[in-house]
Amino acid sequence: MDSCIFCDILSGKIPSTPIYQDDTIYAFADIHPKAPVHILIIPRQHVSSVMDVQTQDLKIFSALHGAAQKIAREKGLDRDGFRLVINNGTNAGQAVHHLHLHLMGGRKLNWPPG
Ligand code: 5GP
Ligand code: ZN
Repeated sequence: MDSCIFCDILSGKIPSTPIYQDDTIYAFADIHPKAPVHILIIPRQHVSSVMDVQTQDLKIFSALHGAAQKIAREKGLDRDGFRLVINNGTNAGQAVHHLHLHLMGGRKLNWPPG
């Protein structure tokens, strides 16, 4: 595997601001927030994209969304709403090739996104 900045964040090589963690998930503040709350939720296991999650690993999606639920509640976003986004591949502008769920909230979010 080529170097991966999110794996470096998981190992502590690159510092991050932790928001939530458990055995399978780590969540941290996005370095360039696009909303008052912008958190990245990642599996500890390196998987490049949605399409690289193998059938036996589909529980990763459940874990990502379970963490999102906990964080949204913790941050008080459950009342006014929030957005969950996974950019997948070139057309979606995926820049980091370690699967991540964006959790954004704290303001009215436009739809559709660009
Ligand atoms: P993508 O476009 O791949 O869906 O999103 C990648 C996200 O990772 C971007 O929102 C970007 O700001 C964030 N990001 C990139 N490098 C770092 C970093 O070193 N630390 C943190 N906390 N976020 C990063
Ligand atoms: Zn990685």
